[in-house]
Amino acid sequence: MSDAPHEEHGNNARTLNWLRAGVLGANDGIISTAGLVIGVAAATTDRTAIFTAGMAGLVAGAMSMAVGEYVSVSTQRDSEKAQLALEKRELAEMPEQELVELAQIYEGKGLEPELAQEVAVALTERDALAAHADAELGIDPDELTNPWHAAWASLIAFTLGALLPLLAIVLPPESWRVGVTGVSVLLALLLTGWISSGLGRSPRGPAIVRNVLGGFIAMVVTYGIGALVGTQI
Ligand SMILES: [Zn+2]
Repeated sequence: MSDAPHEEHGNNARTLNWLRAGVLGANDGIISTAGLVIGVAAATTDRTAIFTAGMAGLVAGAMSMAVGEYVSVSTQRDSEKAQLALEKRELAEMPEQELVELAQIYEGKGLEPELAQEVAVALTERDALAAHADAELGIDPDELTNPWHAAWASLIAFTLGALLPLLAIVLPPESWRVGVTGVSVLLALLLTGWISSGLGRSPRGPAIVRNVLGGFIAMVVTYGIGALVGTQI
């Protein structure tokens, strides 16, 4: 794998962001549902009760992720649209100052004044708004994130992740439930930690350890609470 910086631009960077968000959503689904079903399984052996709790947790978690994502992406998109509208107005009302401003940005990035001016003129002729949006705001006006896409993506990712502990707790015989769920969840977290650290190009070892340990703690804590509540009530 080469780590040429240009690979991170444009569609590639967008795809990477989506993948990263998907893996994180699945990770959320795995950990929260695992904690839930293991907690309930510590309190009761009733398969229907465990399944009902896990299913409710899956649906609630997926909806909550989707709503949260929809709200946050919509807000970001509104703010980006407002910034673009302002930029558009400035370009229409004072094109000369805007050209100077753009040239100054490229000068600030280290270009000689003459070259910065040349670049600013060329980019302005090609697509002034895109040039300003990129240099000043870091936005691509043609590629604003769609809030519905983001919402569906996190709903699906969370659901896929949550299905693993849900199936692992209800399918095996009673005495195997918690063990099978614990082991399969830790293996899945090892996998999501490995994938997400690869996508983020961060060192793999620490990312995997954090992820697996986090899930392990979540399961131990909810198991403890479930066992405590289950014997008290
Ligand atoms: Zn501008």
